[in-house]
Amino acid sequence: MTLKSILIHPDPRLKKACDPVSAFDTELARLADDMLETMYDAPGIGLAAPQIGVMNRLIVMDCVKEEGGTPDPMVLVNPAVVWESEDRNVYEEGCLSIPGQYAEVERPTMVRVTWQDVDGAVKEQEFDALWATCVQHEIDHLNGTLFIDYLKPMRRQMITRKMQKYKREMARE
Ligand SMILES: [Zn+2]
Repeated sequence: MTLKSILIHPDPRLKKACDPVSAFDTELARLADDMLETMYDAPGIGLAAPQIGVMNRLIVMDCVKEEGGTPDPMVLVNPAVVWESEDRNVYEEGCLSIPGQYAEVERPTMVRVTWQDVDGAVKEQEFDALWATCVQHEIDHLNGTLFIDYLKPMRRQMITRKMQKYKREMARE
């Protein structure tokens, strides 16, 4: 397994819609493993392929946060929300591509999602609470949407300026 470097906003690759995955081969399985390892290492609870510069519809997540909890790694290929609840809740979201920045985002409390596993088998499941927020946040990445896109323009611009400064500082090191 290989740790991948995570793109930091602003980056044009984080603003693009990704292509569906069509080849369910060993390369895809390896990519999913690398993404999980990169996510756990960060650490984070979700990661989308475009965040490592791979422009395909693939996300990984594991929202088990309790210390000593059994890990529940999930790999979702070509995921799509097929139903969402009218109930909405608010979570303070962050993103591995926008380190150190957090903001409250309102989303449907529950969603039903279909996807394919790394072998191409079709799956369907309902997600709620943190898992629902996470899966929606990650699917957004596949459409070039970031959580800061839900914020007021002023706040979004402030975060973007902070990230530009952060990237300049990182480049200097
Ligand atoms: Zn994110």
